[in-house]
Amino acid sequence: MSLAGADLARSSRINIRRADALKQPGIMRSIFGPDGLIAKAHPEYEHRPGQIDMAEAVLRAFEQKHHLIVEAGTGTGKTLAYLVPAIAAACGSGARVVISTGTKNLQEQLMDKDIPFLQETLPAKFRAAVMKGRNNYACLHRIKQAESTPFLEGLDQIDQFDEVFRWVTQTETGDRAELSNLPENLPFWRHIDARSDTCLGQKCPDYEPCFLTRMRQRAMDADVIVVNHHLFFADLALRNGAYGAVLPDYAAVILDEAHQIEDVASEYFGSGVSNYQLDDLLRDLSYLKIEDREAERELTRISSRIQRYADLFWVSFREGRGLDGRFALTPRGSRPTMREGAELDEEQPGTAAYPALDNALNRLETAIDILKDAPADAESILRRTRQLRFDLNFIVKAADKQFVYWIERRGRGAFLRASPIDVSGLLQDKLFEKVPTVVLTSATLSSGGNFRFIRERLGLDEGEEMIAESIFDFENQAVLYLPAKMPDPRSPQWGAAAAEQVINIVNATEGRAFVLSTSNAGMNEMFERVASQIDYPCFVQGSAAKSELLKRFRETPNAVLFATSSFWQGVDVRGEQLSCVIIDKLPFAVPSDPIIAARQRHIEEQGGSSFYEYSVPQAIISLKQGLGRLIRSTTDRGVLAVLDPRLRTKVYGQSFLKSLPPCRVTSNVDDLIRFFAVESAATA
Ligand code: SF4
Repeated sequence: MSLAGADLARSSRINIRRADALKQPGIMRSIFGPDGLIAKAHPEYEHRPGQIDMAEAVLRAFEQKHHLIVEAGTGTGKTLAYLVPAIAAACGSGARVVISTGTKNLQEQLMDKDIPFLQETLPAKFRAAVMKGRNNYACLHRIKQAESTPFLEGLDQIDQFDEVFRWVTQTETGDRAELSNLPENLPFWRHIDARSDTCLGQKCPDYEPCFLTRMRQRAMDADVIVVNHHLFFADLALRNGAYGAVLPDYAAVILDEAHQIEDVASEYFGSGVSNYQLDDLLRDLSYLKIEDREAERELTRISSRIQRYADLFWVSFREGRGLDGRFALTPRGSRPTMREGAELDEEQPGTAAYPALDNALNRLETAIDILKDAPADAESILRRTRQLRFDLNFIVKAADKQFVYWIERRGRGAFLRASPIDVSGLLQDKLFEKVPTVVLTSATLSSGGNFRFIRERLGLDEGEEMIAESIFDFENQAVLYLPAKMPDPRSPQWGAAAAEQVINIVNATEGRAFVLSTSNAGMNEMFERVASQIDYPCFVQGSAAKSELLKRFRETPNAVLFATSSFWQGVDVRGEQLSCVIIDKLPFAVPSDPIIAARQRHIEEQGGSSFYEYSVPQAIISLKQGLGRLIRSTTDRGVLAVLDPRLRTKVYGQSFLKSLPPCRVTSNVDDLIRFFAVESAATA
């Protein structure tokens, strides 16, 4: 990536003298130390040696232009530990730094809390901008067109649309997060968002006031840009491509929640086509204003052909598969059934209907191409049709062995996808070799005390690494409970024995527990077996929205929440309300998942052991995420329980145990009662 593009002009507006203040030797210690700027300004300041070490390592990575991988467990204060050196580097060099977070919530936390705090506290003045994916923003052009495109259903939607219409005349950003009093899943939002498919670009009559144009301008003027992984990798996949980059040039990037990167990168370096995309194309085609009657009739005929063949095409993918879920498209999950130039395989779902569908799309392409006085929107339909044909061809032929081909079914949606099996080479080429400084950080990146796994998965050969020390005293704050004897988790006896353990544990902790299962079926079974046997209020995932369940859990004394992996990450319940986290089984990734199966097979084909090189380290990282829910502050205390006997009976169990916090281990439930009795005595 050319750094020449980083606006040198911006450096003139930085107060050089103040920026230099952040470049003095030992500056991180004086900012984060007990007498430092943050201690003076932050009401909840705690001296954290691990935070200072991390901040110095991040600053070193910027100054020496190398990559850094840093695990910073809960209690390290990692957000400030990367923000402060990032700001120092951006202000000092005039080159932009991108910070990419795992979720939009974390983006908002940075923009609403941490960055304003540092803007007030640090001597250097800096500008920060947030960028989200295009579909978070309203499209002025599509909203204006909405008058003639009848996509609203029912009076509720008409009222909601009126509210959106009023809002776009007032909002500065066009970011739909501002519409907090409307439902999260507004049914018509996809018809008015600023997605690239339908964007007219510089030909748009609303290009100047467009919210995306304004967002990009703010980003160009900023020293620090806060994005999320989806936008970051969408941009990375587009860079040097036909449509160009989304983000302005940058000299360094910090990827927080970096344990998620492999999955996000494989999503954006792949291809996908959904039934919704085809539906949207035909719907937008029907709204085209065509003057020529004959051309209009021809487009209507082509549209019904596409609809007919598309229906046949999607039906063929539904046959023989369950309802929702992810399914491999080829019999063995990833091995393509086709070679380049070969005939399409009739056994591959969709291939019988595909030629007719492709033919109809081809006719559409030609018909639009020769339209006289075509309206501006015809160009986007043409572009989308070409892209659809290209993606469909790539997926249905399944000819590239480096990809796994699969389908996801969700409700009425069918999503065909091709994902790269191994993203390490792509990340090396597009990220680590192009950007001088990449900082990867997360609370969970190491497994078995080293970073071998994450480095190999992401293709990061070079660079410094560190595990930042937590300020938590796990020896005194937590107890690890491992049952003395449990049946094999795959045996029929497992369910009853695990439920008995959960009942004993939550009785000892007086509720206040998360019971986390590795599958929905396991969660439901556990809830059925346990809820009626304990005297504590029980909640189960799926009975309400996640945020509502968490609210109820926080507000209900002695509650027990049964959940799955969606509660393993990004959930923060401080204090004694959450005093116990129980995990039923070691969280090995589901081997029937097409991407997981393809990755495992790829390792085996290279002569490796997919179990030891992929399944075990990946499960260690997941387990650490789940257990990380428990201790969130220096005053939290609690019980971690893992009911899977393989932790003790299998050789690989040692790698798991080595990766857990250094706390006391017990198999005696009475120890848990004593642990909490000590706490009660101390607070009495
Ligand atoms: S430039 Fe694109 S996103 Fe912006 S208003 Fe126009 S069509 Fe919508």
